[in-house]
Amino acid sequence: MNSTTEKRIALISVHGDPAIEIGKEEAAGQNVYVRHVGEALGQLGWQVDMFTRKVSKEQDPVVQHSQNCRTIRLIAGPVKFVPRDDLFDYLPKFLDSLLQFQKANDITYPLVHTNYWHSSWIGMELKKIQGSKQIHTYHSLGAVKYNTIEIIPLIATQRLAVETKVLETAERIVATSPQEKQHMRSLVSSQGTIDIIPCGTDIRRFGAIERQAARSKLGITPETKLVFYVGRFDSRKGIETLVRAINESQLRRSKNLQLIIGGGSTPGNSDGIERDRIENIVNELKMNDCTIFTGRLSQEILPTYYAAADVCVVPSHYEPFGLVAIEAMASSTPVVASDVGGLQFTVIPEETGLLAPPQNVTAFASAIDRILLNPEWRDELGKAGRKLVETKFSWDGVANQLAELYTQFLEQPVTKEAALLTQ
Ligand code: UDP
Repeated sequence: MNSTTEKRIALISVHGDPAIEIGKEEAAGQNVYVRHVGEALGQLGWQVDMFTRKVSKEQDPVVQHSQNCRTIRLIAGPVKFVPRDDLFDYLPKFLDSLLQFQKANDITYPLVHTNYWHSSWIGMELKKIQGSKQIHTYHSLGAVKYNTIEIIPLIATQRLAVETKVLETAERIVATSPQEKQHMRSLVSSQGTIDIIPCGTDIRRFGAIERQAARSKLGITPETKLVFYVGRFDSRKGIETLVRAINESQLRRSKNLQLIIGGGSTPGNSDGIERDRIENIVNELKMNDCTIFTGRLSQEILPTYYAAADVCVVPSHYEPFGLVAIEAMASSTPVVASDVGGLQFTVIPEETGLLAPPQNVTAFASAIDRILLNPEWRDELGKAGRKLVETKFSWDGVANQLAELYTQFLEQPVTKEAALLTQ
């Protein structure tokens, strides 16, 4: 048995480049997921090629992460950033480039793990062309997302159709939480096979520094009551709810209350516009004294911020998984999150944090206050959160579960029937 050929996988992530800086528009959870899964699989001896779209001339076409794991940037349309909703037309080009790469390198991927709906289309085409088996992770479901936004984009019909087809035809769908699986069943299709394998986090990096050490590194006093948010500037993330909740906090008039909002943005882009909107609300509420916008936080400095915080807030209107919640818990910091989606799976109310109805400012304010006003309970919640992440959400554990799943399919021969299924 030739293990090198047998343990080969392509991770496809058309818009979520696993090799770029995290924390700006359209670069967050999916990028982190693909990169960590790829690297962990590489450690397990898999030959991992992660395919994404090249978006600037300066980007290297290939980034080698480790001996077995690399990112390959394919040319598909203009070599510049294209918003997700405009990417569909470039998918045939992406497919052509991938096929050319295979030919030039004498590789045929027997198995592809696709991420987000665009990539699922590529996976379904590869199945037709060469019988590749397909595992798919949605990262976000159009059927759920379109229920939480006011303006439905033109691409919606196409997206919903592709999302249904991949559920019905992929060898396996990976849902990252039972809540996501339930949404697939109730809103997408009753056909297809779904496994639940969560997202993970780096339990060695998050949790390596203690609260007081982290605070002195960041110049934050021990008395400060520190509330922390990190994530993209996107109205779905509910930052407005958090800002208004801090304004309603019982500690609002205390000099010690501090809100830190982390996350990158580009002026004029959608995240820059959202950041301006949030800054305007902070100004209107006269919260400038107690609010800091840090900009993008690198993955290197992030563990220090999580550890320094008394509470991390994830106020999303909808969240398929929500890496931030498990990163905070891995750092022994309790989480106050919206009672939606994957957050209902990762945050155990009264044990590792609290859940509040999305967009409910008063409920968020009182949940945050309960933790800020009781440091002993904060520590208990933090400890329990760390334990939960160690047992359920480490990348190594996640990669092991995925590797087991992949192995099942690599051991099955490629059949013409499988290829015909998607036609
Ligand atoms: N992130 C980061 N720096 C930032 C903002 C976000 O490293 O300035 C990371 C964060 O640590 C997490 C990811 O981006 O790993 C966000 O993932 P999540 O699942 O919470 O949300 P998404 O953006 O995918 O909806």
